[in-house]
Parts: sequence; C-alpha cells; structure tokens
Amino acid sequence: MHIRTKLASLAVAALIGMTAVATAQQVTIRAGTLIDGRGGVQRNVVVAIDGARIGRIGNQDARATYDLSQLTVLPGLIDAHVHIGAHFGKNGRSVTQGETPAEQALYAAENAYSMLIAGFTTVQSIGAASDVPLRDAIARGKIPGPRLLTALSPVRDPSMTPDQIRQHVRRAVAASADVIKLFASKSIREGGGQTLTEEQVLAGCSEAKILGKRVWVHAHAASAVRASALAGCTTVTHGSQITDAEAELMAERGIFFEPQTGLLLQNYLENKARYLGEGNYDEAGFKFMEDGIALNDAMFKMALRHKRLKINMGTDAVAGAHGQNAREIIHRVQKGGQPAMDAIMSATSINADAIGLKDRIGSLAPGLEADLIAVDGDPLTDITALLRVVFVMKGGKVHRNVAPGQQ
Ligand SMILES: [Zn+2]
Repeated sequence: MHIRTKLASLAVAALIGMTAVATAQQVTIRAGTLIDGRGGVQRNVVVAIDGARIGRIGNQDARATYDLSQLTVLPGLIDAHVHIGAHFGKNGRSVTQGETPAEQALYAAENAYSMLIAGFTTVQSIGAASDVPLRDAIARGKIPGPRLLTALSPVRDPSMTPDQIRQHVRRAVAASADVIKLFASKSIREGGGQTLTEEQVLAGCSEAKILGKRVWVHAHAASAVRASALAGCTTVTHGSQITDAEAELMAERGIFFEPQTGLLLQNYLENKARYLGEGNYDEAGFKFMEDGIALNDAMFKMALRHKRLKINMGTDAVAGAHGQNAREIIHRVQKGGQPAMDAIMSATSINADAIGLKDRIGSLAPGLEADLIAVDGDPLTDITALLRVVFVMKGGKVHRNVAPGQQ
C-alpha cells in the first residue's frame, strides 16, 4: 500500500512535469517568407518550436508567439571558418601582446556575441587552443554565442615528418579538437606556394580520418590544392590559384571548396594601419592582397561553372571582421554572379554538411535544432537583407528581437 501510494504520487509528479514541459512548448513563429536552407521557399507559415527543436511547420491560423509576417525567416547562418579569438587590442593594433588571458577571453566572447546577433548561430574556428573554454562556456548555455567548433592548433611546420604530423593530429583530437587544420601552402601575403609535400598532407588527412575527424586545408597554390584533394581532405580553404582542373578534381572527389571573395581581403585593406608592420603584413603583402580581390572574383566565377563542386561558406574572419560575416555571401551574389539561393545554401545546409552537422542544423525542418533568424527584406531579391538581422533564435532561445531599422 505504501509503495502504491508512492508510485501514484510519482505518476502525478511526472504528469505535472509533462504539463510544465507542454506549456514551455507553446512557442510559435509566423514567417512571411520562409527560406528552408535546402532550396525551398514557403509563404505565410507558422513554425512551432518544441523546446530546443523545430516541431511542425504548417499553415495553422493560431496567433503566433512571434509575428514575423513582414520578415523573411531563414535557418541560422553558419560560418565554417573564423578565428574567434582574433581582435584589435587596446592600442587598436592586430598584435595584442601583453594582454592577460582574461582580457583575451573577453575579446573572444565579444566576437562570439557580434556574430550571434548578426545571425550566425554556428561558427567553426580554425582555430586556437584558447577556443576550447569559450566553446564549452557557450555550450553550457549561459554566455551568448554561436555554437562553436574548433581546430585547436594547426599543422603548419613543413619540417615535420609524416609521423610527427600524425602525432600532432592525435594530440589535437585528444585535446577535443572538432576538426583538424593543415597549412599546405604559404600565406597569400607570401605568394601562396605549396609548403607541405603530398606525403605530409596525406599523413594529416588520413590520421584525422582514422580518428573520425574532418580536415580543413589552407591551400592557395594549385599543386597544394591538388595534393589536398587527392589526400581526401574535407575542405580546401582559399584556393585562390586554382584552375579548372583543380575545381573539377575537388568536384569529382566530393571535396568542399571554401573560397574567400568578399570579406577577408577587404577587411585587411580597410584596417591596413592596424595590421601594417607585423610579420608579413608589409607593403609587399598588402600588394598581394589588393591584387587578390579581382583574382578571387575571377577564380570564384570559374569555380561556379563546375556544377557538381560543393562550395561552402567560410569567411576566415580575423580581427575587425566578426559580425560582418554575411558580406562574403553578399559579395558572392553581387560580384560573383552566384544565384542568391545557392549562396544562402552555402551558408546553411551545405555548411552544415561540411562541418558534419547536417542532421542537426542548417535547414528549417521538423526535428532539427531551432536555429532561426529573420531579416528585414527578401534576400532572394536583395541579398543585402542579410545585413538586416532583426531576430535570432538559437536552440529555441531568442537572442535578438528588434524592430526593423533598429538592428
Ligand atoms: Zn584561417
């Protein structure tokens, strides 16, 4: 009898608990236009949010919790390549020696917040060891920021043996890296020539694959891109010097291609005085970058002609660029001639696929994480609407909800 009473009261407690959950599930969003991230568009629909996930998307008439009927709703945007800790220091310069770890951490948290309210609900940092505590703090749900993935420390030194590269990859994975970064070529400020041999690139890519991790390879020279594609990396980032042959090779091998056309070099040039004088940020380096904008535009147009090539969106955001990430998407449409829907998919479903999260994010569909943004305008006809983000929900939690014009 005693046990039965206890069971009964447990059952009542469970019912009360369920009611509380059911009440918490009543969030709905009415979208004037809904772009689903997979190429689909719907008008005047209501998205039901079940806790952290998307429930039904339908045409029910009920009053919505959030009336976004004058706006366009999209999946939370994804930037697959940022450097979340990079910032201008107190002296305004890009090199920030003498800062305390606490100062550095807070600058990184600022970058995270800037990107979140600009509509980027997931970013991949390519990457630094200091990303880990920020990633974990955001994941705990208290500090506002995009869902963060990180590469920790990259493989960069061409004097490493293949065995040493494998060991570096194993250490990074043991230290909780989500992705591995290899530098297979020099910086564009030094001409972009290949640095790692085919054997070295293969060592990094194959070891990562054994451990179930993805690999981002920095490569400008065509030969470095070829080596990366043949080694089975996940994504080639930059690729500024590729020809049709490398674009086709990446397409054939299913390698993602992440070119930068609209923000990276522009941001360096806009902030030249803050960078100039440090390392390869000299006049010769800036000349490479000035010339690089037109070269990248031409390369991107060429890449678009390879219909099977999976082009994803990574800005390589460094100091000064966080929060402006959408400029890459806008530039690809305005200067590169990419259809707006394709450019949006690069930053949503295609990016989710590239970062291994397509079953969780990157699209608006039942069961996926409730990462939704709303912009003032229709980005399919005016891509600059992506700069007018007025609503941001990540994992069912609203982080921004302002009137158009107030963003
Ligand atoms: Zn980078």
